[in-house]
Amino acid sequence: MSFDPALKKKLSALLKNQIIFDEPMAPHTSFRIGGPADALALPNTVLHLQSLIRFARQNQLPLTVIGQGTNLLVQDAGIRGVVVALSRLDTQISTDDQHENKVLVMAPAGARLKTLCKMAIHKGLAGINFALGIPGSVGGAVMMNAGTGHNSLDQIIENITLLSSNQEIRVLEKKHLKFNYRRFCWEQSSKIAKEPPVILAACFGLSRSTSAKIKKDAIRVMGQRAKNQPKTDHSAGCFFKNPPGKDGAGRLIEMAGLKGLKCGGAKISNQHANFIINTGKATSYDVLKLKEIIVETVLTKFNIKLETEVKILGS
Ligand SMILES: Cc1cc2nc3c(=O)[nH]c(=O)nc-3n(C[C@H](O)[C@H](O)[C@H](O)COP(=O)(O)OP(=O)(O)OC[C@H]3O[C@@H](n4cnc5c(N)ncnc54)[C@H](O)[C@@H]3O)c2cc1C
Repeated sequence: MSFDPALKKKLSALLKNQIIFDEPMAPHTSFRIGGPADALALPNTVLHLQSLIRFARQNQLPLTVIGQGTNLLVQDAGIRGVVVALSRLDTQISTDDQHENKVLVMAPAGARLKTLCKMAIHKGLAGINFALGIPGSVGGAVMMNAGTGHNSLDQIIENITLLSSNQEIRVLEKKHLKFNYRRFCWEQSSKIAKEPPVILAACFGLSRSTSAKIKKDAIRVMGQRAKNQPKTDHSAGCFFKNPPGKDGAGRLIEMAGLKGLKCGGAKISNQHANFIINTGKATSYDVLKLKEIIVETVLTKFNIKLETEVKILGS
């Protein structure tokens, strides 16, 4: 299904060259899976973004914000309504060095986490090296509270700028923000949010160090990652959240004897059992079938119900 011609015309007039209709989502995700979105909007300015949100609301169009699609499984029938990516908004990262104990780093949502980490290395700023190698945008990383076993973004966030459900741009300080494991709990963070907010930017507090020291640590972090995670395969990273307890999801899947199992084009990685990889022509159906087998097997063997970390979008 896609929009009727009258709606398309109005949206085109509103966003000009900032909207693509019936856009396949596979190329916009690291999994390389997913049917078409009715429309993919790439607003150039926050004003265009606000107009789009207003329009979507008036016309009862579902709206889905994405970052770089590195934590997404888009279903085969695609996504109804408008998908919005913020990568064309300003992505300039800036620093504020006027504080005694820390340096504040302001990063727009559409900036890449990798760019932020590289800038920290270059400027000799400590505290964000743990995020090296996590793909995606700053907005997606905040929404997912991205991290590793060592740290997560909530530990270094000072404030976030968001567009709330009533179209207000608000800066929320860390004392008002609530995060959980791989989740920004926006419902509990802002009294005004009724729907998921759009993250526009985040400010991180980093400490002063030297570029040489940070670089040395970065090599260690990246080396560790290369050893443990499949780098070249198409995936969405860890598919399941780690359950409480000593064994992570990957270890449980491995102990269940599922490493290497395939469903169509989807396969459990031989390198890291919590990675489902697209071997070439996987569909979301293949991935979800494999997911079902994993959840059932781990539940039967260990009485642990695995929860999905990857966000499943569409129908
Ligand atoms: C090889 C690989 C390794 C990975 N390793 C890690 C890891 O070590 N640790 C980790 O935490 N994750 C990891 N991931 C998962 C993923 O990279 C992170 O979750 C990342 O932060 C997602 O960012 P994104 O921009 O791609 O967001 P997307 O995947 O596009 O979106 C993720 C969620 O955030 C929402 N969202 C995105 N942008 C915004 C915004 N501006 N405003 C509001 N909502 C928004 C989306 O609606 C969606 O619900 C890995 C993924 C891959 C492919």
